[in-house]
Amino acid sequence: MQTELAAFIRDTPQGREADAILRKCVHCGFCTATCPTYQLLGDELDGPRGRIYLIKQALEGAPVTAKTRLHLDRCLTCRACESTCPSGVQYGRLADIGRELVEQRVPRGAWQRGVRAALAFALPRRVLFGALLRLGRMFRFLFPGLVPAPAAPAGAWPAPRHARRMLVLAGCVQPALAPRINAAAARVLDRCGISLIEAPGAGCCGALRFHLNLHEQGRDDMRALIDAWWPAVARGEIEAIVMTASGCGSTVKEYGHLLAHDPAYRDKAARISALTRDLSEVIPAQAIPGRAGLGRIACHSPCSLQHGQQLRGGVEALLARAGFELTPVPDAHLCCGSAGTYSILQPALSRELRTRKLAALQSGMPVGIVTANIGCLTHLQGGTSTPVCHWVELLDEALQG
Ligand code: SF4
Ligand code: SF4
Repeated sequence: MQTELAAFIRDTPQGREADAILRKCVHCGFCTATCPTYQLLGDELDGPRGRIYLIKQALEGAPVTAKTRLHLDRCLTCRACESTCPSGVQYGRLADIGRELVEQRVPRGAWQRGVRAALAFALPRRVLFGALLRLGRMFRFLFPGLVPAPAAPAGAWPAPRHARRMLVLAGCVQPALAPRINAAAARVLDRCGISLIEAPGAGCCGALRFHLNLHEQGRDDMRALIDAWWPAVARGEIEAIVMTASGCGSTVKEYGHLLAHDPAYRDKAARISALTRDLSEVIPAQAIPGRAGLGRIACHSPCSLQHGQQLRGGVEALLARAGFELTPVPDAHLCCGSAGTYSILQPALSRELRTRKLAALQSGMPVGIVTANIGCLTHLQGGTSTPVCHWVELLDEALQG
């Protein structure tokens, strides 16, 4: 695609990156067919090719309007378009650049600003979010379907006894919503000869605020997390950093890129990204005793796992080896509608995508649904009575017999 970026951005790092991405796009439109919002709305501007064009216009200095912002807001950043694109267009990175610009050019109204500020303030603060969730659960009867049910107890966390050690991200909302996930991961890895450790002071990975277009605040969260992890990394005590939420994993694997222009952090960020693994990448399949007959399960692979990290089939292979029968899931590449804060900011589109995803997941008559991201888990469970859990919880139960 020919580009003529405006002088205000042409020679900035963002301008150069956006220009290189735009020039790769050949406007073929293959990506449009796999875009969930295009499937729902049927508008070219609610698909990747149209959004790329809108961002190009904005970067070339054309006026941007609330309509431009709306089409970008409706994008889930699921990156299904990246998996489909034959030219390797990094749509997600281009969207980050375009959204930041449009956010500056078209200020939001007071209500939208208030909601987004409240989300950016409360969600990354683990203690505050936990307190709000407990309060919400006390009055759950007033908001049926809105507040997640009380979580299953975490169970015992094995004492660190192995020479092989890995850090695990506790995260911001996951400890309150599903404390069992990390404890189950620690138990499973303990059986594989690996001790899992949570670093004190490690908080949000930064994805929440970054994807609310608060890029510098998001980067502050990233720097704080690097500071919390760095002592263990610098001492060479750990061989990997494990992610039990694929949304966080997708972001932390990009720290090297996201902090590339911060001279104080770029080297550390690149090292952290290189050490980061999804949980499914570190559990050796041969450590799982092969069995059969544990029940029919549908697996929802989050976009952040299959598109963001380009990891496919690993979770399913571990569960199959442990004895679960994986039911077929049509259109598995499509987003469930959770997408960070999207379910709150775009509730109608989000609910429609969830309805479609649950129909696909339940079409094979599973007894339960598993996924790999706390956002998808909570969102899907809000729409069905079929139990939804993290896959490692199921693996933990299977290994405990
Ligand atoms: S598939 Fe890739 S090259 Fe084709 S229009 Fe979409 S982003 Fe551009
Ligand atoms: S990231 Fe997802 S929703 Fe956004 S344009 Fe790409 S496929 Fe469509």
